[in-house]
Amino acid sequence: MITVAGVDVGNNTTEVAIARIRGRGDVEFLSSAMVRTVGIKGTVRNAVGIIDAIDRALAPTGVARKDLHVVLLNEATPVIGDIAMETITETVITESAMIGHNPATPGGQGLEHGRTIAISALDGQTPSGGPFIVVVPGEVSFDDAARIVNAAHARGVPVVGAIVQKDDGVLINNRLERPMPIVDEVRHIDRVPLGMPAALEVAPPGRTIERLSNPYDIATLFGLDPEETRRSVPLARALMGTRSAVVIKTPAGDIEERRIPAGKIILLGHGGRRVEVPVDEGADKIMETVQSVYPLEEVQAEPGTNVGGMFEQVRQVMADLTEQPVTSVRVQDILAVDTFKPQQILGSLAGEYALGNAVGLAAMVSTQKLPMLRLARKLEEEIGVPVQVGGVEADMAIRGAMTTPGTRAPMAIVDVGGGSTDASVINEAMEIKSTHQAGAGDMCTLLINTELGLDDMELAEAVKKYPLAKVESLFHMRHENGSVQFFHEPLDPRLYGRIVVLSPEGWKPIATKELMGKIVSVRQGAKRKVFVRNALRALERVAPAQNVRLIHFVVLVGGSGLDFEIPKMISDALMDYGVVTGRANVRGSEGPRNAVATGLVLAYAQHHGG
Ligand code: ADP
Ligand code: MG
Repeated sequence: MITVAGVDVGNNTTEVAIARIRGRGDVEFLSSAMVRTVGIKGTVRNAVGIIDAIDRALAPTGVARKDLHVVLLNEATPVIGDIAMETITETVITESAMIGHNPATPGGQGLEHGRTIAISALDGQTPSGGPFIVVVPGEVSFDDAARIVNAAHARGVPVVGAIVQKDDGVLINNRLERPMPIVDEVRHIDRVPLGMPAALEVAPPGRTIERLSNPYDIATLFGLDPEETRRSVPLARALMGTRSAVVIKTPAGDIEERRIPAGKIILLGHGGRRVEVPVDEGADKIMETVQSVYPLEEVQAEPGTNVGGMFEQVRQVMADLTEQPVTSVRVQDILAVDTFKPQQILGSLAGEYALGNAVGLAAMVSTQKLPMLRLARKLEEEIGVPVQVGGVEADMAIRGAMTTPGTRAPMAIVDVGGGSTDASVINEAMEIKSTHQAGAGDMCTLLINTELGLDDMELAEAVKKYPLAKVESLFHMRHENGSVQFFHEPLDPRLYGRIVVLSPEGWKPIATKELMGKIVSVRQGAKRKVFVRNALRALERVAPAQNVRLIHFVVLVGGSGLDFEIPKMISDALMDYGVVTGRANVRGSEGPRNAVATGLVLAYAQHHGG
């Protein structure tokens, strides 16, 4: 009788299965363990994590590490994934400056337009022209501002609105004899151009502005021609959903337009096939083209463009991680998804942004196989137990997955991990075919992070994994499914009125102005864009004679298989094919985890007795 350890080193997770082998094919699994992978998969740095995982798995079994007969390491798929996000059209505003934000307490309400004028130019003076929108810098007190405007009104000067630096909108408004809309909290008041036509809108409480977020209203107010109107679109978009806004027409050339072309992706197939696809045609077009050129030799991007820059970055990261020269890094598969990326707007005066169209790209790169052997040698030295690299990861995954009760060949597995989505099929003759594709859990997290403008990958990861709730009072919260939960003890007052992620490590408030429904739809959209698309194309690639209908069972393995929504989404997408889709339950106990580690042990036991 011998005791062996199967070890699966993934990009995210290192998994271990410990088993006793009594005779050929006679296996008893004793325990499993899982730790975060240390270092990039396939490098000697992994050893630390592996030893830790083995020790954790051994602890409950009473077996000493030195008494292991052998440690079985997966022949890690020589692919790693990386992700990047790029705006495909550089949208910058010309010839207008704008303010559009949600000051907590703007003053007054309504839409007005006039010429901007400094408050000092109204103090005791009677300027001709008008109507005027008065600009109030921080050094002028609300008392003085109200007094000057009241006096101007009394002299018959048409002052119709105000732009204020401090949070004084309500204070000023309360002191005006004739109320008017006031936009306050404008950080860069010094950049507001004077003597220029401006429009100002403040929405009633609980509403958002309606006119300045509409390009045709902007065109009407400023007399724009069709070309100018087209250029005002990002500005109008940036103002959508805000409580107050100002648009100021600036002298031509004051704010310059800058454009970087989106660029093309170049797909190289077998036999010298070469197809180009412009990125600004969108993700669907890119993926259609990828499918038509498959199998791919390499994916390149046009230099000097947005997408060119993105590829350079991906290849540089990969080169650093794998210690290969950049020139030898080849991108082997991509997943493109349509997304939005908040962009700073040139000419914004309160730090506003617009959501620009962007594509997110997940790229997969082949690395050399060698490092796995180096890792095995290093591990062997450290633990004094023979280490064997054996078994292609996908083959092992399918063996492990087949221990799921209720499955039988022919079947397929989809390994939804962090960096890549891999699929394999096994037919009745136990022949296995597999494929690796760019894009999985990490991509999904990146999309959530970007589209919600979180700028916090850890929070984005939590938003991906756990449901949301809104803390509506100190004693109750409303869950995203509408149910209400009450509490006997008051909740943390810092969570009051906030949307929180119900992470098991504690509730995390999300700093966002988005509604809960919007966050849910971004989350589900990201999962669909990455996982449903990848599951479908993976199955098409490995299905017998390209016929997905010949597969009856599809089993999901890997960390993303634990997700509370992904298995259902994939299952829904595959329903048309009449397959049974579900999350694996490796060995009837491990869920979607441990498939590769389990498979390694089973494969070994087939050839070695105890
Ligand atoms: P790898 O094989 O590349 O190491 P894993 O199989 O460990 O990857 O999968 C890692 C991915 O699984 C990550 O993107 C992570 O966010 C995701 N993941 C882990 N646990 C959960 C969970 N409970 N719900 C959703 N996703 C999860
Ligand atoms: Mg894995």
